[in-house]
Amino acid sequence: MRHFPSAPLARHCTYRIGGTAEIFAPETMAECLALVRSWRAQGQPFWVLGGGANTLFGDGHLPFPVLLTRALDALTIHGLVVEAQAGVWLDRLVALTVRHGLAGLERLSGIPGSVGGAIRMNAGAYGAEVSDHLLEVTVLAPDGGVVRIPKEACGFGYRSAHGLHGALILSARWLLSPQDAAILQGERRTILQRRRQAQPLEYPSAGSVFKRPPGDYASRLVDAAGLKGVRIGGAQVSEKHAGFIVNRGGASAADVLALMALCRRTVANRFGVHLELEQCLCLEHWPQEKDLP
Ligand SMILES: Cc1cc2nc3c(=O)[nH]c(=O)nc-3n(C[C@H](O)[C@H](O)[C@H](O)COP(=O)(O)OP(=O)(O)OC[C@H]3O[C@@H](n4cnc5c(N)ncnc54)[C@H](O)[C@@H]3O)c2cc1C
Repeated sequence: MRHFPSAPLARHCTYRIGGTAEIFAPETMAECLALVRSWRAQGQPFWVLGGGANTLFGDGHLPFPVLLTRALDALTIHGLVVEAQAGVWLDRLVALTVRHGLAGLERLSGIPGSVGGAIRMNAGAYGAEVSDHLLEVTVLAPDGGVVRIPKEACGFGYRSAHGLHGALILSARWLLSPQDAAILQGERRTILQRRRQAQPLEYPSAGSVFKRPPGDYASRLVDAAGLKGVRIGGAQVSEKHAGFIVNRGGASAADVLALMALCRRTVANRFGVHLELEQCLCLEHWPQEKDLP
């Protein structure tokens, strides 16, 4: 187990923002289970960190430990079934299935982050979601048992998985279908190119800030409200894609939070639409008990 008493969180998230935290990085599943069971037995709150690609950390020192899953990175293929532990980088999984001529995950190409984070967020793009061809998710349930949850019981919705609330995701299994690897490679290349064209990948961010409101796009509303390019401190509503807030250098969590609030307030005043946050906030006064894994 690797242990960092006061690690800079900016190194562990794609916003490149954050104070410090005590980070524990188990290197085996057994270490992970023992650690989390002992925390739970003590009533110790903790935060689970995958790739940090959808998380804004606060500027101070977090008063609870962080569990970093990245070293739990076993990835296996048996016929059409692929299984990945929570710390596997999602795009590594996608690239491997594409190379093996297994269809179903290729449209998720280029989504940053871990398998655990992707399942928790039901990450998706270009009409596909990580839950589409999923068979089951293995979790450490709140009662301490390791349980296999079939897809139907995970409660997947748009960027949500209500049935997994409070559970630590350990691994997931998908059933894919055979397809010509060259065709899948072509689709992957196209998706990666579309992402490069549409998204401000040249600056640190954590993807879309807000969820899509019914029948509309958050980026369209933020743009129409005149907020594209607006800056608070080092944080800016991306000039390329108004759905993203980017770190133009030296942004603090306070800058990003102020900009999120400005976008929300302005869009609500102008269009009467409430923008719901897609990104996760891990601030000094979080997590609250109801949000614990
Ligand atoms: C440039 C860019 C583009 C993006 N494009 C997309 C996109 O196209 N589609 C999309 O859906 N998202 C997109 N995102 C957001 C992000 O990539 C996804 O949400 C991703 O799935 C987050 O994974 P993660 O491991 O980084 O999650 P983290 O940020 O580490 O965690 C996210 C949440 O999941 C929880 N969590 C993480 N691991 C576990 C676990 N093992 N068990 C229980 N809970 C866990 C965390 O506690 C947190 O609440 C983008 C982000 C960036 C930076």
